[in-house]
Formats: sequence, structure tokens, C-alpha cells
Amino acid sequence: MRFEVLREDGTARLGLIKLTDKREIRTPSIISENFSNDPAIKIYNLASYPHITYLKNYFESITSQDRSNYPDDLPNQFLDDKNLQDQTAEVYVLPYVNRYLGDYRRLSLMLTKTRDSIPPDSALFLQAVASPENVSILVYHGVDLFDYVYEKIAALRGVYLTTDGEYRLKNINNQKIFEPQRPRIFEHLAEFPCNCPACKDKTPADLDDKSIRDIIDFLYMHNCYALNAEIKKVRYLIEEENITEYVDKQCRSSPWITALYRVIDRDFLSRKVPLFRRSYLYANTSDSFNRIEIKNFNDRVMERYQKPDLDNLLILPCSARKPYSLSPSHRTIIDAVLPFRKYLHEVILTSPLGIVPRELELIYPASAYDIPVTGEWTHEEVEWGRDCLKRFLDKNKYKKIIAHVEGPYKDICKSVEDELGLSFSYTCEDGVTGDKSLKNLRDIMSEIDTDKKITNNERKFFVIRSMLSYQFGRRMADEILLDNGGDLNLRIRGKYPNMVAFIGSKQFLKINMAYRSVDLTINAVENVKKVKGDIFPGDYTVSIEDFVPLGDVFNVGVIDADEQIRPNDLVLFEGKKAIGVGRARISGWEMVEARKGSAINVKSVKEIP
Ligand SMILES: [Zn+2]
Repeated sequence: MRFEVLREDGTARLGLIKLTDKREIRTPSIISENFSNDPAIKIYNLASYPHITYLKNYFESITSQDRSNYPDDLPNQFLDDKNLQDQTAEVYVLPYVNRYLGDYRRLSLMLTKTRDSIPPDSALFLQAVASPENVSILVYHGVDLFDYVYEKIAALRGVYLTTDGEYRLKNINNQKIFEPQRPRIFEHLAEFPCNCPACKDKTPADLDDKSIRDIIDFLYMHNCYALNAEIKKVRYLIEEENITEYVDKQCRSSPWITALYRVIDRDFLSRKVPLFRRSYLYANTSDSFNRIEIKNFNDRVMERYQKPDLDNLLILPCSARKPYSLSPSHRTIIDAVLPFRKYLHEVILTSPLGIVPRELELIYPASAYDIPVTGEWTHEEVEWGRDCLKRFLDKNKYKKIIAHVEGPYKDICKSVEDELGLSFSYTCEDGVTGDKSLKNLRDIMSEIDTDKKITNNERKFFVIRSMLSYQFGRRMADEILLDNGGDLNLRIRGKYPNMVAFIGSKQFLKINMAYRSVDLTINAVENVKKVKGDIFPGDYTVSIEDFVPLGDVFNVGVIDADEQIRPNDLVLFEGKKAIGVGRARISGWEMVEARKGSAINVKSVKEIP
């Protein structure tokens, strides 16, 4: 038996279990009891603490611990156990976790610590816990395998499980069984809210003359179908890189599951969450402000981004259509200032990203996010916007600041203006594209400083440099673009945003609008090699064994990798026989720790003779 991770979407993973009898199970999945009878399966039971377990052989010392010593924080001893780290089990079992249902802090901590303590290419099996309502958030905590035990227990309790919560049939009321959450009672119900084979053609009234045994069988069957349907959906959403949006929505079914979503360890998330995705980021709830992608965007704007050498700043509001500059409102504004655009640096004030410099409007998530726009900002949105603008203007200095904004955007600008002792010019009077507003904007152009300017070609080059700095850090961006001490002479072609850069007739890099990032060709990799000698070590680089990879670099062939690498990052790799570029499938630290599965999807490779 063998388990490997096929792909990740943040902390959730799609995996594959290959059994000795050739059967394959795609994970996350439910596995039946006889799964563990497969003679080739090596399963180590993890002790949960405090716990009751019949598996006394492996964690003897811990099983004997007294429950009265139950600490406030979870102990690390069993999770950091050196013996555990040395094991090479394919599946780790965390048994009897059902006692922690409802106790979101302990449950979250236990799951993330366990996931961090076992090899990344092993599966985590959680027993007796998964329900249709909570399984997505458990997958989001890095769990791969579940069973139907909770469904069985629920049936015995007379409980009908749905993704929206638990309902007790009025026919059964077994109060003796421990209940993590009190189910609502199904009464006077005309039909079941489900179309599974168990519920189809059946109404609650049909159960009235059935025996308790029959009712339990019916409930168990429905509960299993409901869990299975939810797991199928979760697998699909991981594939679509949309699991976070789903969990953000699904967790609202009950307060403790929402809490379980909120308390997940940020360090755990930040080590795995991709910073480029093919899917949209929906910031529909206030919890979205805590998304790793959003904090990261702001961090990189503050740390990796350098503004162009211009003296005038034009602050604009965001637009619904992305990229902003192709939206009707931005096109109208750009047209109005076109003759003066070479003197202007443009930034966009937006929720929840804060400040988006024009040069970064194509980068994920700036060109791939959406929020419910009602014209009113919540208190958190205003505070976050204020904080971002303030920090941006603290760092980046201008002689003239024009704020072509209104409503909450203007309130934010005014408050930052006062706080920093600056003086903004406001030009909006009748909407951002109103005739008076545009006239005000044109009029104020006579007051701007025209010492410094940027040509159209310089602007295109600057967009590419800014995107590379955002993606790879400033040092690597320099190494990609450097030529004999100066900048490479790139020819940039293509209609914005689909730009392609050439050196002579050779393609060098291009904007990838699927991942909202920059793709490098082998020519760019060779340039880095020429500039800095060895490619590895370096930012977003991987050192591989002596082979020429075809299709994928597998984890077993990775010698070392930069820790900054996250899934979907473009990475440069180098071995004695080949250099190349590809898209990371997993985080850099996982490439080093894992022994199975794919590390990099190779885009371009060059053999070293
Ligand atoms: Zn059903």
C-alpha cells in the first residue's frame, strides 16, 4: 500500500492510495473498516490526549498518564516524539477524537500539530468524527481519511445528518448518548431535505409504523450517503482550487464550526497556502480579511515593491471589472489624464487588498478577487484601508497627491491626510466619471510636478520588473533582468495584459493570466545562471539530483529547496545534468521532507552537456 499527494489547495490535499490488490482510492475519502486488514498497510496509531486507547504497545508511557493532569495546552510530547518522526507509515490514525467535537481550540490544535508532526506524504486518518457538516473543515485541517462511525452513532441517536446541521426524528430520542451539539427536532415534516437513495420516495410519515431497527438502518444509510456526497464535493473543490471559499461558507452552519475555521493556526496555513491561484478569491465575510493571500499581498507591496521615480500620486477607487485599467471607469479616467499620465503614479484603494499599485494590478489576487459591493464599508474595511494607505504613504514620498475618490474612499483619504500632515487634492464632485469630476481632474494637471516622467516603454518594463519583484523578491528580479551591469534590452509585445517579452527573437518571459503571474522561459533561467553562476541556492530555487527531468520532478529527486516556495509558485531548478523552470506542486519544505509524489511540474528544461 502506498499513499501520495496528487495536489494541494492550501491546507487541503488530493491524494491517492494504491492498495496491494491494485485498487485505488482517491482522497479525501471514507475508508471502510476492513481497509486496515490489508496486510501491506502500516498504520501507526497516534495517541490523542487525554485518551482511552487499547493500543498500548506504541505509546505505552503516554497511555499511562493520568487524566487529572490534563493541561491547558495540548502536550507536544507524543507529537514531537522522535520515534514518530522516524517512522515511515503511509497512514497515521488519530483515534477517539470525537470527544473534542465542539471543543474547537483543542481539536484545531491537535489536528494541525499532528499534521505538522507526521511526514507530509503520509495520510492522516481521523476516526469517528466526520459528518456532512464538518468534513470540509476537517479536510481544511489537513485530514485525508475518515470513516462512517459518526454516521452510525448519529443513527443510533435518531439523528439525521445534513450539511446544514443535525436533526432528530421525533420517533427516536436516546438522550443517554453524548451529543456535541443538540440537534433540532424534525417534527411535522412533510418530506426529507435530501434525494439520496434512502430518502428518495420516502417521507417522515412513512417511518411512523417502522420498527426502531428499521429507522436506525434508514438513518445510517442516509447519513452515509450524505457524508459521501459532501466528500465528493470537497474533492471537486480542491481540484478547482476553491476549497477555502467553500469552507468559509460551509462553516457558518454552526457557531463551533465557524470557530474551528477561525482559530486554525496561521503558521500552519502560511506554510501551505498558495499565493497564486487559477480561481477567484471571494472576500464575502469579515473572516476574509484574515486570508493569508490578502495579508501576503499587502506585505509584498510594502516589502518587495518599489514605486517608480515619479513625484505625483493619483489615488483611484477600485472597479468591479479586473484588471482595473480595462474597466470602463478607469478607461474614462485614464483618457482624461492621458497627456499627463507620464508624470503620474497611480494606485488603487480597495477592500480588502488595501493599496494596489497600478503595476501590480495583474498579480493574483489583485486581478482575481471580488467582494460584495454595497457602497458602504464595514468598520474593519475602513480601518484596514486606512492602515494600508498610511503605511504606503509613510514609505513612499510624493510632492503632489491627488485623490480622485468619493464616499468611504474619500473618508479614508481624509483621515490619513490629517494623520500624516499631508495635503491631498480632491477632484470628485459628481461620481468618479462625472463631467465635473473629470474636469476637476484635468484642471488640476496644471499643478503637478513635471520634472520626472516615465515613457510608455519604460512603464511596460516597470510593470514586468514590479511583477517579478512581487513574485520572486527584488534580488531574483534583478538577477532575471540583469545584463552586463545594466538592464536587459527586452522587447515587450502583445496587447495588455497578455504581454510577452523577447530578447532578440528569443522569448524571455510572459504574463500568465491563468495564474496571474509571470512565466519565465528557459532563456530567462539561463540568464540567471549567467548572472549569478549557480542557480541554487537562491530565492524560489530547487536543487535536484543528477538527471534530466521529463514532465515532473519527483520529491525523491529533490536535494534541497527554498523554504519560501508555496504550491503554484514558479520555481527555477538546477542539477548537474539540467537546469529548468516549472510550477511547484507543493511547498518547498515539503519537497525536502516528502519521499513520494511530484514536487515540480516542469515547464521547460535544458540539458547541461
Ligand atoms: Zn438522504
